[in-house]
Amino acid sequence: MPEELDPFKIAQKQLDEAAKIMNLDPQAHAILREPLSILQVQIPVKMDDGTTKVFTGFRVHYNDARGPTKGGIRFHPEESLSTVKALAAWMTWKTALADIPYGGAKGGIICDPKKMSQGELERLSRGYVRAIGDYIGPEVDIPAPDVYTTPQIMAWMMDEYSKMKGKNQPGVITGKPLEVGGSLGRGDATARGGMFVLREAAKKLGIDLKKATVAIQGYGNAGEFAHKLVTEMFGSKVVAVSDSKGGIYSENGLDFSKVKEHKEKTGSVINFPGAKNITNQELLELKVDVLIPAALENQITEKNAKNVKAKIVLELANGPTTPEADEILAKNGVFDIPDFLANSGGVIVSYFEWVQNIGGYYWDEKEVYEKLDKKISKSFWDTVSTMEKYKCNPRQAAYILAVERVAKAMKIRGWY
Ligand code: NAD
Repeated sequence: MPEELDPFKIAQKQLDEAAKIMNLDPQAHAILREPLSILQVQIPVKMDDGTTKVFTGFRVHYNDARGPTKGGIRFHPEESLSTVKALAAWMTWKTALADIPYGGAKGGIICDPKKMSQGELERLSRGYVRAIGDYIGPEVDIPAPDVYTTPQIMAWMMDEYSKMKGKNQPGVITGKPLEVGGSLGRGDATARGGMFVLREAAKKLGIDLKKATVAIQGYGNAGEFAHKLVTEMFGSKVVAVSDSKGGIYSENGLDFSKVKEHKEKTGSVINFPGAKNITNQELLELKVDVLIPAALENQITEKNAKNVKAKIVLELANGPTTPEADEILAKNGVFDIPDFLANSGGVIVSYFEWVQNIGGYYWDEKEVYEKLDKKISKSFWDTVSTMEKYKCNPRQAAYILAVERVAKAMKIRGWY
């Protein structure tokens, strides 16, 4: 991978930029440039054919000055330590910006879940938890789902950990099914949180979302719910959506239920009746009011950033924009809402789940939505004030706020 696309190098570059603007103490900067600790494990798993296969897994604790670390677990064939470190760093900034009492962490296993049976996935998930059992815990480090890990996988992991400890430990992991301590509202929390941020951004920029056109890249948990909610909550017109096979465009708008049904039937959004097939590249460059990247890292780069015509980019994906592209978007007046603000709804509701697990008292959906709205809207306006104070772009402002909070906690603890 070229160095400029190495996720951890990008995370460090973003931190360095913010450190410069905010004049961060060099000692705090040195602590924050690297994770506090890294665990790598080998997980032997009995496969269905009777052979044993060994998988490599990681868990990274980036920083725990503000509280136990928090972050998802990704199952991916191209998982790498660099990606896990970058995602752990971004979790640190995300929890600090949302002002929830956590640090940042991330985990991953190099595997191809699409080629594994349910039994193999269960044995892998339980093996991973046995290997990292002393490294996680409700007051230590609390994992959650990420790309290709599901509520079912969270339930197996919680069960294995509870067996290791000899007691029920629902607070060790979030994103669980409702039956074993999950929270109402967790399913669409990432997209819903993104919608609350979009509503506030539209207010700031004077954009009427009822008349707005929207393009969404990626049609998984984040992208699909974004399509549903942006139409339901604001009446905006979604003119383009895509997945890994390609995208579709219709000037008249794409009906959510029909596209969902088509994807379920055919396995992709492409070839949707009445719409034109487009590439993922074309989708990013459409003339729309709002562009929502909700797939992978490094989608908006220095090559295509100048062609982005949206007024707002709402980053539901982690790391969709490179630092070079950031500069171009800012110069062209595109309001790019950074990932760790735009997609923080997931971790905020995960935090609510953990609070409910510890308190043993469960909230209704309305309460979850209201508390999410209040927290994430405050993060947005805090970011705007910081932007105005430092005359910087939204990502730099969000970084400054988050880094300030983590640095302060480290200072009070006497780390520097
Ligand atoms: P998912 O696995 O449910 O869906 C991913 C989607 O992206 C799929 O529709 C897939 O077809 C599509 N995709 C894959 N490669 C693509 C490509 N090259 N071009 C276009 N589309 C492509 O994953 P998700 O949970 O929706 O996560 C998507 C992004 O959102 C990731 O960056 C993830 O880290 C981030 N995110 C998710 C959550 C959450 O709660 N789900 C929270 C925070 C951040």
